[in-house]
Amino acid sequence: MDLKLKDKVILVIGGTQGIGGAISRAVAREGGVPLFVGRNPGSGESLEEELREKNLQGAFVQGDLNEIDTSKRVVEEVVQRFGHIYALVNNAGINDGVGLEKGNPASFANSVFNNLNHYYEMAHYCLPHLKISQGNILNISSKVALTGQGGTSGYAAAKGAQLALTREWAAELLPYKIRVNAIMPAEVMTPLYKSWLESFEDSEMKLQEIISKIPLGKRMTKDEEIADLAVFLLSERSSHTTAQFFNPDGGYVHLDRSLT
Ligand code: NAP
Repeated sequence: MDLKLKDKVILVIGGTQGIGGAISRAVAREGGVPLFVGRNPGSGESLEEELREKNLQGAFVQGDLNEIDTSKRVVEEVVQRFGHIYALVNNAGINDGVGLEKGNPASFANSVFNNLNHYYEMAHYCLPHLKISQGNILNISSKVALTGQGGTSGYAAAKGAQLALTREWAAELLPYKIRVNAIMPAEVMTPLYKSWLESFEDSEMKLQEIISKIPLGKRMTKDEEIADLAVFLLSERSSHTTAQFFNPDGGYVHLDRSLT
């Protein structure tokens, strides 16, 4: 299937590694131009190099989205260099473990800000360009928005708000034919996931315990499996799909726990 993403500029926030990195690679494989934003030039430049070696397009844009004015600067820089923005993937986030007990009002506010604010900022600054391209927005939320996790109030609040904003923006942007959708990953091995696992005393045992409860195939979801869904949603092949939440998680969130 031709996703018709050739030469389309897609901004992938947190697109240098993990799920965002897989989305950047999938966009590039489809002939699109992923512009991956991250803080660390090491991982950004190494992805740039990897794509160049495969004769694929894509570029790294350095920036810390938690700093004021980064979003505005990133959008201006991208439009100056590449001329248009077809789609925005809001993806950068951190499960920072700010809970009711291990946390306080200030750390909660900080966690919500760091996980949520740049989703709004990026959508706000990209909007004039998405209106021109009649493009779309894809928000990467989390299963935590629906299931809870315990001990992570700030992250859970931000992930829930991302789902609310997906519907809110899908409604507001109907007149411009801009679609807005969300993906809720569950268990995907990424640098973020690894560091979360390492917070347990026996991380291997915790991993096996989780895997044993994933209905389809008793395995983690691969980052490419999230990315394949993402490129379809970003493409005009999903031209009548908006305001939707997707769970590519092997049935983890929705199937009966007693299934073997
Ligand atoms: P990851 O491995 O930590 O990758 C995150 C990416 O975001 C990296 O490219 C990182 O690059 C970038 N990033 C982080 N903070 C940033 C900031 N302040 N400014 C700019 N870039 C930033 O995370 P992941 O596991 O792939 O998670 C991606 C998304 O999926 C997150 O929203 C997460 O909540 C969601 N999710 C993941 C899972 C899972 O199982 N992995 C489950 C549910 C939801 P730098 O470090 O260089 O900045």
